[in-house]
Amino acid sequence: MRPFDYQRIGAVEEIGAQASDRASFLAGGTNLVDLMKHEIETPEQLLDISRLDLARIEDGEDGSLQVGTLVTNTALASDARVRQRWPLLSAALLAGATAQLRNRATTGGNLLQRTRCYYFYDTARPCNKRNPGEGCGAFSGHNRIHAILGASEQCIATHPSDMAVAMVALDAGVRLRAPDGSERELPVEELHRLPGDEPQRDTVLAPGELITGVHLPAPPPGRQVYRKVRDRSSYAFALVSVGVILALKDGTVSSVRIAFGGVAHKPWRARKAEAALQGRPATEEAFLKAADAELADAKGYGGNDFKIPLARRTLVAVLRDAAGKTGEARA
Ligand SMILES: Cc1cc2nc3c(=O)[nH]c(=O)nc-3n(C[C@H](O)[C@H](O)[C@H](O)COP(=O)(O)OP(=O)(O)OC[C@H]3O[C@@H](n4cnc5c(N)ncnc54)[C@H](O)[C@@H]3O)c2cc1C
Ligand code: SF4
Repeated sequence: MRPFDYQRIGAVEEIGAQASDRASFLAGGTNLVDLMKHEIETPEQLLDISRLDLARIEDGEDGSLQVGTLVTNTALASDARVRQRWPLLSAALLAGATAQLRNRATTGGNLLQRTRCYYFYDTARPCNKRNPGEGCGAFSGHNRIHAILGASEQCIATHPSDMAVAMVALDAGVRLRAPDGSERELPVEELHRLPGDEPQRDTVLAPGELITGVHLPAPPPGRQVYRKVRDRSSYAFALVSVGVILALKDGTVSSVRIAFGGVAHKPWRARKAEAALQGRPATEEAFLKAADAELADAKGYGGNDFKIPLARRTLVAVLRDAAGKTGEARA
């Protein structure tokens, strides 16, 4: 591990001009510390934000919820309000990692965790995300876990978060604070970016910008279902995951939100599938057409070709579930 300066932050106001471009925030540390040990991330300054007063879940206006960035994955998943009104989020969180990790992992850190691409972690292999211009080991290598939507020739990595998939489907927003004290809010859907020619940039955050929390709007009507397909039932990232919120009126789709995980460099809001379903009878044929509309541009790279039919089948199964065959959201 490279030497670095460590500073414990007592209040957000302390994060000012002294934060260099080579500073990183330390929250739960479950991803960042591993990356530092492997010298994949080599911050000169480590700003420990874990003691900030940002670990509360508070009722907001109009039935919304304000989630502090340091709320742990366990605390968020088990909050009675979340379980009752945003079960999609609770199910997605509980599908991630393990109980020990969820006890430590934070809301902001989960959103900003980095890809699990094997080549990103193997410093003996080329990786444009780690070293821009070096090449992409996954493109013609082992790419079983890689993207089928929105990839570029520079990078075909996926974003690994389960929680972010639910947040995108729920139209959540992140609250951000820049080092100069200015604040802004951004839909979670716009936080992460596609790789394009700059795969080293996972998000649109500016240097030193801190996630202070997440705004969870009142949930839309309808049944919420999250399903994660993975190699093992624990300790495994999604090959494909799907979050759906579906409301029916007289058998017709009156509102629908869909997001995929494990298929792209960012949580993937399936707006084409949503458009294909809106106002249509909730039939098997409509579900298949919606999945086909979303996946028309999907592309495999050999090892991950199976993900295209898997994503199709998973979406159809989740829509079937959400259309009223079973009771509650589940992973
Ligand atoms: C074995 C294993 C299995 C896992 N399985 C899953 C899984 O199935 N699904 C899943 O979703 N996740 C999984 N994870 C990932 C885990 O959820 C993340 O490591 C965790 O959520 C990161 O949170 P953290 O608070 O520890 O972040 P940290 O490691 O502290 O930080 C992660 C990144 O976020 C930045 N950061 C943190 N907080 C802020 C903030 N407030 N503002 C700006 N930047 C910030 C840090 O600088 C760093 O770059 C797994 C992890 C492991 C080790
Ligand atoms: S897919 Fe992206 S993260 Fe993986 S090796 Fe290629 S450039 Fe690196």
